[in-house]
Amino acid sequence: MAKKARSARETFRVPRGGVDLAAVDPAGTPVGPGDKAKAAKAMTELGARLDARQEALYAGAVGGSSPRAVLLVLQGMDTSGKGGVISHVAGLVNPQGLHIASFKRPTPEELAHDFLWRIRKQVPAPGFIGVFDRSHYEDVLVVRVDGLVPEAEWRSRYDRINAFEAELDEQGVAIVKCMLHISPQAQAERLTARLEDPQKYWKYNPGDLDARAKWTDYQAAYTDALSSCDTDAAPWYVVPSDRKWYRNWAVAALLAETLDAIDPRYPPADFDVEAEKARVRAAV
Ligand code: AMP
Ligand code: MG
Repeated sequence: MAKKARSARETFRVPRGGVDLAAVDPAGTPVGPGDKAKAAKAMTELGARLDARQEALYAGAVGGSSPRAVLLVLQGMDTSGKGGVISHVAGLVNPQGLHIASFKRPTPEELAHDFLWRIRKQVPAPGFIGVFDRSHYEDVLVVRVDGLVPEAEWRSRYDRINAFEAELDEQGVAIVKCMLHISPQAQAERLTARLEDPQKYWKYNPGDLDARAKWTDYQAAYTDALSSCDTDAAPWYVVPSDRKWYRNWAVAALLAETLDAIDPRYPPADFDVEAEKARVRAAV
């Protein structure tokens, strides 16, 4: 008897009780396509599914009164592929329905506010798929590793993040959080590629090596963030990302399964369809 394939959401979800990142193979392909050609075929199908679902999500809010939105949070070490996911996965849907926000080092104005201030401003409106390229999780990752605030402050943020995300869930925002998990070897190859190609220099930042040198500290910070902030309202997924084609497929699959669960519906007409047909025929 054929075994029922596990969903991407079941496969990549952080286990209850916490994640052991060292136990997740960054080059693994635990579900879905096992090679690049199969992934390309699967992406075509996922693209059609995402596009249709996204249009219904948008229509339900813009042409109706649905509060539903989706928020895809992307986190990962430098070169893990946050930008690649945005072009290859978010690029599968109509750009009109996308809201993309990237979070850099905070400006002095942002630093003067609570860490969630700049995040709240970018929460997708009803009907939109929001994508966060980095996020409020930086405030328990780089901020913790580099000691930018006292420990008591960053420790208090896990609960505040959970409360914030529960609030979004209540509002109708379905949150999908992906940690793009790469090996230090894959990162070395990608950083080298950036230094060997003048068209990639712009992606290279000498400061990235400081974060790379603190790899173990970052893995510890990720472990705590993922384990403390994985909730049913806002689940965390660990996406094996050493193979770009697998990473892109996995995020697309997670997004598609999330949209399937929402099952967005087109709004009914708020006018008399038959009467309007008659008016169109009569017009001019
Ligand atoms: P990139 O995403 O490669 O353009 O780099 C953005 C940089 O901004 C990374 O080095 C992040 O660690 C940094 N960054 C993002 N959010 C924060 C934050 N809340 N506090 C400090 N640094 C941050
Ligand atoms: Mg960078």
